[in-house]
Order: sequence, then C-alpha cells, then structure tokens
Amino acid sequence: MLPYFSEVFGNAASKSHSFGWRAEEAVDHGRRKIASAIGAQSKEIVFTSGATESNNLAILGVARMFAEKGQHVITAATEHKAVLDPCHELERLGYRITILPVDRFGRVSPDDVEKSIEPGTILISLMTANNEIGTFHPIADIGKIAKKHGILFHTDAAQAIGKTPFDVGKLGVDLVSISAHKLYGPKGVGALYIRSRSPRVRLHPVVFGGGHERGFRPGTLNVPGAAGFGKAVEIAAKDPADESKRILLLRSRLHDTITQGLPDVHLNGHPTERLPGNLNLSFERVEGEALLMGIKDVAVSSGSACTSASLEPSHVLRALGVPDPLAHASIRYGIGRFTTEAEIDFAAQATITAVRRLRETSPLLDS
Ligand SMILES: *Cc1c(COP(=O)(O)O)cnc(C)c1O
Repeated sequence: MLPYFSEVFGNAASKSHSFGWRAEEAVDHGRRKIASAIGAQSKEIVFTSGATESNNLAILGVARMFAEKGQHVITAATEHKAVLDPCHELERLGYRITILPVDRFGRVSPDDVEKSIEPGTILISLMTANNEIGTFHPIADIGKIAKKHGILFHTDAAQAIGKTPFDVGKLGVDLVSISAHKLYGPKGVGALYIRSRSPRVRLHPVVFGGGHERGFRPGTLNVPGAAGFGKAVEIAAKDPADESKRILLLRSRLHDTITQGLPDVHLNGHPTERLPGNLNLSFERVEGEALLMGIKDVAVSSGSACTSASLEPSHVLRALGVPDPLAHASIRYGIGRFTTEAEIDFAAQATITAVRRLRETSPLLDS
C-alpha cells in the first residue's frame, strides 16, 4: 500500500496521463485478486468503503431499481445491523420486510425462506456466516430457491471470505458484501460483487456524482486501500484449508480448557456449522460487564464489536432464544491468523479465574 500514499499518487480515474494509469493498474490488480478469490470476473467487483456500505448499496440499490416490480424483501433476525438497518429504512419508505426466525443454533431454514416468497419479493438477504456466533446459513440451498423463483440473492460475506471457500457460482449468489479489514486488509475499504450474467443484476446507486465503478459507486477510489485489499485476499487465499485446521485446533483447545475448568458454560451458535475462528460462550451465574472487566487483558467482546457499547443483550443471542441473563453473560472469542497456543492458554486461564471469582462473590446467583 505504501507507494500509493506518496510516490505513486495518481488518481485511478485520470486516464490522460501515466500517473493515473499506474494508480489504475494497482486498483485493477486488487480487483482481479478479489474476483478470482470468489470465482467472479473483475468487472463484477465494485469497491466501496466497507461491508456496511456494500450492504446498503445492495439492499437499497435493488429496492429502488425494482420498486415497480415489487416491494418485499426477506432477511433474518440475526443479520448484522448493516443489513437490518437499511431494511428498516425501506420499511419506513413503505416496503415490506420479512424477518425470518432462526433455530436455536442460529440457522434459517430454506423451507421458511421459500414459504415467505410472495409475488412481490425482489430480494433475499442472508449472511454467509454470523459475526457474533459464527453460524453458517445453508447459502447454497437458499441460492437454489432464489434462482428457482427468479429472486435476487444478496449475502453479507464479511465474516466468511478469506476464512472458508467461497464461490459465487456454486453458492448461487447475485450480490456479495466483502470487507477488507475482516481478512487482515486495511480498514475503510470493501467491495460489492454484482453478478453480470444470468442474471445481469441492475441496481440504483445510493451515492451520485460521477461515473466511477461503472456508476454504481461514484467518487475517487481509495487506491492504497484497493491495493492492500487485493494483497490481503491473495495471502488469505494461499492455503485456507491448512489455516482453518490450525485455527480449529486452537478453538477446540480454548473450548475444552474452559469447560474442563468450569461447570455451567454454554456454547452459543452451531456446534459444527460455524466459522473455525469463532467461539461464543455464556457463563451461568456471572454478570457480563463484570466478566469482561475481569479479563480485560484479553481482547474479547460481548455481542458484536459495533454495538458493544450498548447495554442491550445481543439481538443475535435473543433470536436464538438464549435467556437474557445468559445473553448478558456471553463472551465472543475470535481466533485468528496470528493467535498462538500460549495466547489461547492465557485467555482460557483468565476466563476461568474471573468466572470463579465472580461466582464466589457475586450476589447475582440464579440465571
Ligand atoms: C464487520 C461486519 C460488517 C461491517 O463491515 P465494515 O467493513 O466494518 O463496514 C458487516 N457485516 C458483517 C457480518 C460484519 O462482520
């Protein structure tokens, strides 16, 4: 990324001189890497500022484009706020939104998706993997249903891409949101995959002001961001199977150590159909805030990072039917590329010590 902040300072949209061309080359290189990692073509990748913007562009863009065809959108209760909030915005504009329930592991049923389709349904938006509990939705099955009914299918894959195999053809998805910083790229850059063939997806921009990114997302491109995003994807795509295996072993070690050291610990999310690096646990008879403070040397969170400042229990855990006291006393551990076994053991011991201490002293007993 570094040269594109200084030496190669050209604007990728400047076509009339070599400085612009060099910047454009970097952007196109990034675009190719991202496209090839998900089985897409370069021209189907539109750069954005992150998955939040990609989700907004996909949902609001399709809704505006097809308002005359229909005004019904299907999504689920455990989606990220960057999907639920644009859907609520559509509701205010008169659209109808079906928010599907999930099972106790956090999965939507493909049957429920199909049953909720109406003549006016224009979009299904369901995430590939959940950011709080790691659960995968059965995306390929839902892709088939969407195709059968001729409905566009968007997936927020911010958590999945770079961590599990992802192919737009095999999954049958038409729009895909990606975020660079979730796969060790820079913050503030992301992409939206927009299918160009069978069907060719059309959508209205949400920002206006120029022809950049085929008109889908005008504005001067973040050249260092696009270059760094491409590099991050390239590295992540190198040996994803080995990497997942290593991370899965670390997760099992963390989970086993904690449950061997403590009774009354519950796993949130699906036992197997989940991201390898996600472990979400609830601890009986402790108070969530105190628990987080008790292990403050470990960078864990309760709920999602985006809403961790709020005192509301996680909307995701609520949707799974986790009772409020347990939802409050939940911790999300994220295991990544650079996590070591020693760090896993440290986190496990810190958790065990904190929970034991809180259970001995806490007046809050029955959950
Ligand atoms: C992080 C995240 C987002 C938001 O992505 P930004 O790039 O930070 O805007 C959206 N959806 C999911 C599932 C995420 O994990």
